Amino acid sequence: MHTPMRECIGCGKKVQKQAMLRIVKKEGQISLDTTGKSEGRGAYLCKNIECLDECIKRKKLNRAFKQNVSDDIYNKLSEEMRHLFE
Ligand SMILES: [Zn+2]
Repeated sequence: MHTPMRECIGCGKKVQKQAMLRIVKKEGQISLDTTGKSEGRGAYLCKNIECLDECIKRKKLNRAFKQNVSDDIYNKLSEEMRHLFE
């Protein structure tokens, strides 16, 4: 069976989709997609702190969503995701 792979915006590796976190942009709003099924443009991250940190530090979402993502949004996502790793 074909396993969908997505590129992590943190480390750039291709990883199985179901092992990743999805960040979605819908109607201009960027949020963590906890269901993995939300509509909208998605960006993917491995479920680990290293990739999250890389994403935040290098503002990888700006390129993924082709816009300038504010620090507020990075902070909010960072908090939500860190929560998942605890
Ligand atoms: Zn990664």
